[in-house]
Amino acid sequence: MLEIKNLHARIADSGIEIIRGLNLTVKAGEVAAIMGPNGSGKSTLSYILAGRDDYEVTEGEILYNGESILEMDPAERAAKGIFLAFQYPMEIPGVATMEFLKVAMNSQRKARGEEPLKIPDFLKRVKEAAASLDMDINMLKRPVNVGFSGGEKKRAEILQMKLLEPQLCVLDETDSGLDIDALKIVSDGVNALRSPDRAVVVITHYQRLLDHIVPDTVHVLYKGQVIKSGDKSLALELEENGYAGIIEEAA
Ligand code: ADP
Ligand code: MG
Ligand code: MG
Repeated sequence: MLEIKNLHARIADSGIEIIRGLNLTVKAGEVAAIMGPNGSGKSTLSYILAGRDDYEVTEGEILYNGESILEMDPAERAAKGIFLAFQYPMEIPGVATMEFLKVAMNSQRKARGEEPLKIPDFLKRVKEAAASLDMDINMLKRPVNVGFSGGEKKRAEILQMKLLEPQLCVLDETDSGLDIDALKIVSDGVNALRSPDRAVVVITHYQRLLDHIVPDTVHVLYKGQVIKSGDKSLALELEENGYAGIIEEAA
């Protein structure tokens, strides 16, 4: 589903290269974890997948279902089913969360050639999804993420993800700022989305999240490259020994 080949990317305005020859393949049905020390380029990779224009790809390829996405703008990528849950979800003052969800869901449906949702059907879906994440429906009357706590923002991201039913989900540090109960709820939400025709990329600094969302593959990102790949036991090894050994081995 996702094939990243020899990707090089830099920050557009400073020219600093952050992603330096990254290779990664994620198959449909797979949950892939990307781990790595702070500053290794994990968030940068997620922004590049989403199509943020602060970054410039200078070399390499990103194929999604066999098609290059590099020339697509963020809206086209989203329409094709790529979803990014941000490490730091953005606040959108003046836009009620409910309204935001309706517009997002209906534009997604339009991209799939489906009719807009009838209001009662929309409300039913939102209520069910919010309840499954233990979110107070009244919160959704408030502007997107404005004044939400860290944990509430993360839940709101997963709520969007559930409702938009993406094919490729990228979750950047979804565990940060979550207490253990919220972590469980959010993880259950992600696990419920596991399916043979969907792929999930879980970016995390800590093994903790991977106790709840058990990955099929684990990739270690360091200085803009995947330096080691393995199965879930690699995450446990990292938890025990830290990154130093693997970094040394790769060098
Ligand atoms: P991670 O998510 O793995 O912690 P990031 O992708 O956030 O890492 O950052 C990778 C590196 O790129 C870091 O060294 C960070 O300081 C640098 N970086 C990211 N964005 C910018 C920017 N806009 N300007 C300068 N440096 C940046
Ligand atoms: Mg970081
Ligand atoms: Mg990050």
